[in-house]
Amino acid sequence: MSRVCVIGAGAAGLCAARHLLVEPGVSQVDILEQAGQLGGTWVYTEKIGYDDFGLPIHSSMYKSLRTNLPKEIMGFPDFPVPESERSYLPAKDMLAFLQLYSDKHGVTKHIKFNHHVQLVIPKAGPSGELWDVTFKDMTTNISETREYDYVFVCNGHYNTPFIPSIPGLKEFEGDVMHSHDYRVPEIFTGKRVLVVGAGPSGMDIALEITSVTEKVILSHHLKEQPKTVFPDNLVQKPDVARIEGSKVYFVDGSEDVIDVVFLCTGYLYNFPFLHKSCGIVVEDNCVEPLYKHLVNIHHPSMCFIGVPYYVCAFSMFDLQVRYYVRSMNGTFDLPSSEEMTAHWEEEKRDRAARGYTKRQAHMMGPDQEKYYASLASEARTRTLPSVLTKIREESSIRFLHNLKHYRQDIYKIIDDDTYEIISNGKRE
Ligand code: FAD
Repeated sequence: MSRVCVIGAGAAGLCAARHLLVEPGVSQVDILEQAGQLGGTWVYTEKIGYDDFGLPIHSSMYKSLRTNLPKEIMGFPDFPVPESERSYLPAKDMLAFLQLYSDKHGVTKHIKFNHHVQLVIPKAGPSGELWDVTFKDMTTNISETREYDYVFVCNGHYNTPFIPSIPGLKEFEGDVMHSHDYRVPEIFTGKRVLVVGAGPSGMDIALEITSVTEKVILSHHLKEQPKTVFPDNLVQKPDVARIEGSKVYFVDGSEDVIDVVFLCTGYLYNFPFLHKSCGIVVEDNCVEPLYKHLVNIHHPSMCFIGVPYYVCAFSMFDLQVRYYVRSMNGTFDLPSSEEMTAHWEEEKRDRAARGYTKRQAHMMGPDQEKYYASLASEARTRTLPSVLTKIREESSIRFLHNLKHYRQDIYKIIDDDTYEIISNGKRE
């Protein structure tokens, strides 16, 4: 019988626990969560910096956030978002959904809240490898080390800000802030704000803060220029070349005066609790060596749920967990370490040949259907219906070109391949 440690009670950890708890060969599932509640990313807090126990604030949620994907993409395959919910949910409804999922599957009572994982170390056991996991109960300050057969790493990857190296940024006289610390627009009242990056958060927040700022300068290198009609006080610019004093210079030779540099530049994978002997290295935001972005090749009794991005996240978590649990229960055997390494090296070569950078090692986007199918066929389980990736793609395009109103669109899934948009939001 196996003892399993799940690190984190966000959507990925809850999903892992949901499947592990009904697995006959698993005798113990400990879900270690550093926060006082489940939900990870979806927990909104006004606090920035550190929590009451001195741990860095995990969530990057801002007050007004609504999902950037419709509810059809935000559920789990065996637990969809209820029909009654509006299409693009506010964060608090996503949190309530996760609470319901956890309660319904009996997961909540297995979560050790306020338990911060400090160290994970592999060790030899009598019949194979084991793990020592050291965690601290933040309410009592008491640390404990427990032995497990398997470790599921589900600590999320939207909490450690990526700060780009922009010449002159360190010397900038005004405020520099990352979107991790953004909560409400009022902090920018009357300011001239340079927003760096036009990912989902950059675009969303740039639009939101136009209501209070004097000027927003949205600097990005999107291949496709958004057709969204922005308010007059928002201008788009290419990449920043350098910052000098209170001036920003762009690569096209133009310049502007700014009060704030607001970095919407994304996040870094970070596993501070993994001892070096776990064999996992993060370089240029590439986590390796992982087989299928999931299995620690050096120590296959450790898996990582949720590493790929630009995916149908919760459904992918479910598929990754089903895959891995099937390797645990013997439905299929993971390949040898040499085979897994060869697979990962081949994937890296293939991605490089297609123009992906190392930093994009875990970006799925157009690769996601193939990725889902490869997990499913190896583990002999069902893949995700292609209608999910189709809706995801449609919603992403509408996001780019109709930012103000795309959340009014209402989708309906017809079957595994097809959907309909039954109500269109206002068009720009
Ligand atoms: P998290 O939700 O980050 O959960 C990780 C958990 O691990 C946390 O509860 C954390 O406290 C815990 N933890 C971390 N370290 C430790 C430790 N050492 N010990 C114990 N516990 C630990 N995705 C979408 O699909 N649609 C969206 O619209 C969307 N919007 C987003 C908006 C924002 C602002 C952000 C930041 C992300 C958004 N995402 C969205 C991505 C979202 O993060 C994922 O969909 C998903 O919720 C991530 O779940 P997770 O469990 O992997 O990570």
